[in-house]
Amino acid sequence: MNIAKNSIAPVAIIGGGPAGLTAAWYLHRQKIPFILYEAGPKIAGLASSFHDTDGYTYDFGAHFINNRLAAAVGIGSQCRDVLYYGESVLIHGKTYGYPFGLMKSPRYVASALARRILPPSRQEMHQNAANWFRSSYGDLLANEVAIPLLEAWSGAPATELASAVGSKMQNTIPQTLKLRMASRLSRRAVGCGYSHEIPENPHVWHVYPEGGVGLLCQKLAEGIEQHIKLESPVQRIIVQDGRVVGVRCQDEEQPVSAVVSTAPANILSRLVEGTDILKPLGQLRYRPMVFVNLRLEGRNLLKDTVVWLPEGHFTSFRLTETPISMPWLAPEGKTLVTVDIGCEKGDRIWSMDDDALGELCIEELQEIIPDIKKRYRGCRVLRTPIAYPVYLNEYEEVRVKLAQSIGIDGLYPIGRNGEFSHALMEDVYWRTQHKMRQVIDYRNASQSRHHRSSAQFMH
Ligand SMILES: Cc1cc2nc3c(=O)[nH]c(=O)nc-3n(C[C@H](O)[C@H](O)[C@H](O)COP(=O)(O)OP(=O)(O)OC[C@H]3O[C@@H](n4cnc5c(N)ncnc54)[C@H](O)[C@@H]3O)c2cc1C
Repeated sequence: MNIAKNSIAPVAIIGGGPAGLTAAWYLHRQKIPFILYEAGPKIAGLASSFHDTDGYTYDFGAHFINNRLAAAVGIGSQCRDVLYYGESVLIHGKTYGYPFGLMKSPRYVASALARRILPPSRQEMHQNAANWFRSSYGDLLANEVAIPLLEAWSGAPATELASAVGSKMQNTIPQTLKLRMASRLSRRAVGCGYSHEIPENPHVWHVYPEGGVGLLCQKLAEGIEQHIKLESPVQRIIVQDGRVVGVRCQDEEQPVSAVVSTAPANILSRLVEGTDILKPLGQLRYRPMVFVNLRLEGRNLLKDTVVWLPEGHFTSFRLTETPISMPWLAPEGKTLVTVDIGCEKGDRIWSMDDDALGELCIEELQEIIPDIKKRYRGCRVLRTPIAYPVYLNEYEEVRVKLAQSIGIDGLYPIGRNGEFSHALMEDVYWRTQHKMRQVIDYRNASQSRHHRSSAQFMH
């Protein structure tokens, strides 16, 4: 391929989820040509919403957005406010509000204080996620709640996970207290722990778009439909002399000036042709997840919108009754409980028939909703092989390096799985725009280089 000519070629965007569409929307506004390739038959990726003919709406696990993101994308007037959101933890048959209910338990407080009196060294604390949680929460709360949840969620022992797992997800106690108070006073579900790129504040609350979270992507795609190629998986990213020059899709090569990729980082390493610099990314792992959406008679069957289940005798680690927060997601008098189950591709849970999964959940949840069998009206199951990046200590160096630079000119990983981060959609939105400014700078610099070398040639 002709590298010089490629500087004016379009930018290829891989993936039509929130990140890829934000990139496309941004480039479109800057009048930069682009082609967005989406492997599947429709846009939205993990931000897709599903509707039953019976009147239920559900996402890939419960999805909330906030009014700040909705306003930025231009769907603020099509969203409903979420008035309440709460999380609890079920332990030893008792439900504790998260986090303050747990902090009222004298056992947990005593154990946390003991850690404060005898703190570990910084080095010991950051050795692995287990140490990090014990140092931050005290041994008891870490051993009974945080570590079992982390292990069920990630599928790896906490001693093998990086401490970054914990430190990335934490808000300070005063900040949490302030946001929870604001929620009570304003009677709106003020976001807490959802956004990190721009600080959360009492004026940022959860909202839910009419018709589902997928509306966000539909809005981003408005007016750029002709640049989106569906059912077009990118098979190769072609690199020459350390820079991206083209992509191959459906066995055709397209010259490009840059590539913006939302493909999972381990897949990206296999897509790149012409260098093996990304080989280490191939070892990164994602946690597959199965979401069993139980349709039940009645409402408010759980103690809170989200109930965490750290005790190992449950197959699931998290239950979410979305209609507690968003009553419109189920028909009147009925509800939806989403059961999140971590698994591995091809294992017993992943391969289990949908009805059998429903039955398994109903059996186990009798402990929480005693008459659940009478209430049960079937289930809908969703599966994804890439729900969460797993931060194993063994490839922490690779993960940190990826966050700094990919090492190939003109290649920009974006989005949750592209960046191998736990980012939610608002962070994805702002981070992607930031990256797109870099893409434009890179493209401009390549064009100037091309003009300079053509001018020298003419003289
Ligand atoms: C259980 C769960 C709950 C969540 N809850 C929330 C929440 O409450 N609030 C929130 O803001 N966020 C939430 N998120 C996160 C949110 O879903 C992601 O941040 C968001 O979907 C990331 O968008 P993305 O574009 O990076 O990736 P994705 O949505 O995964 O989209 C990537 C797209 O790229 C396509 N693709 C991949 N490879 C190729 C290829 N080679 N060629 C072409 N196309 C390709 C895929 O088909 C897909 O459509 C949750 C995520 C999970 C798993």
